[in-house]
Amino acid sequence: MYLKSIEVHGFKSFANKIVFEFHNGITGIVGPNGSGKSNVADAVRWVLGEQSAKQLRGAKMEDVIFSGTEARKSMGYAYVAITINNEDHKLPIEYDEVTVARRVYRSGESEYLINGNSCRLRDVQELFLDTGIGKEGYSIIGQGQIEKILSGKPEDRRELFDEAAGIVKFKKRKAAAERN
Ligand code: ATP
Ligand code: MG
Repeated sequence: MYLKSIEVHGFKSFANKIVFEFHNGITGIVGPNGSGKSNVADAVRWVLGEQSAKQLRGAKMEDVIFSGTEARKSMGYAYVAITINNEDHKLPIEYDEVTVARRVYRSGESEYLINGNSCRLRDVQELFLDTGIGKEGYSIIGQGQIEKILSGKPEDRRELFDEAAGIVKFKKRKAAAERN
């Protein structure tokens, strides 16, 4: 399983439809300050279901929609689609390729799609459950997050290793059982 492409259209600084193609290896995105590198990572967070505008470095969700420049008028919606190569079927879905998309309009109306079929946010979350991908996973490490981990309390750091080892769900179940 690997990220094959990211399509953005009307998302933040990307007014034109742009498709980033990746291969099974390491890809770096470089560019001057303010050129939109972090916006690419924001696009991935957003399509995976991020609900917090602050996490996306905005004040309100509408801020993810291209707001226009002197040369170009604003857009009415933002669209992001990520395509994942699923030939190893790590995602519990029969397809060898999975495209997850999200669109939001200025009216606030929004939708999620899996392989072109309209679905709920919950379906997107369930698709990535236990894969390490997702807005709560550590597949996206934001600026400043490493420092937070290094300077954090040992208990907090332990939590991170628990999560990486996949034992958090067992700990949660144990705690729930002990409460009963
Ligand atoms: P740095 O190297 O400083 O981290 P960067 O390449 O990561 O920069 P980003 O933070 O991704 O840059 O991009 C910031 C740019 O995106 C700013 O110029 C900002 O105006 C633009 N931008 C953000 N949201 C929108 C929006 N809704 N509409 C238009 N432009 C936007
Ligand atoms: Mg940046």
